[in-house]
Amino acid sequence: MKCFNCASDTINKKYEVPICHSCESGLKLFTDDTIIRQKKEYKGSENYSSYQDEISQRMILLERDYLKKRIKLLHILERLDYLK
Ligand SMILES: [Zn+2]
Repeated sequence: MKCFNCASDTINKKYEVPICHSCESGLKLFTDDTIIRQKKEYKGSENYSSYQDEISQRMILLERDYLKKRIKLLHILERLDYLK
């Protein structure tokens, strides 16, 4: 399979997404120590009760944002095709 980012051949996957080791390194994923520290230092807010709650909510917002942008771009492509 191909890395989603650079299209090089890879057998590596992260959360079902094909990604080569080089691109995965480029993501600079948090270490467990960093995650533990951020969880410990997290100060709740009126919107989120915990670090995990905030991260989960951010995933939902990210997916919504992605879908909005996808719809906008698909609409442009559809109209361009129609307006040919
Ligand atoms: Zn890659």
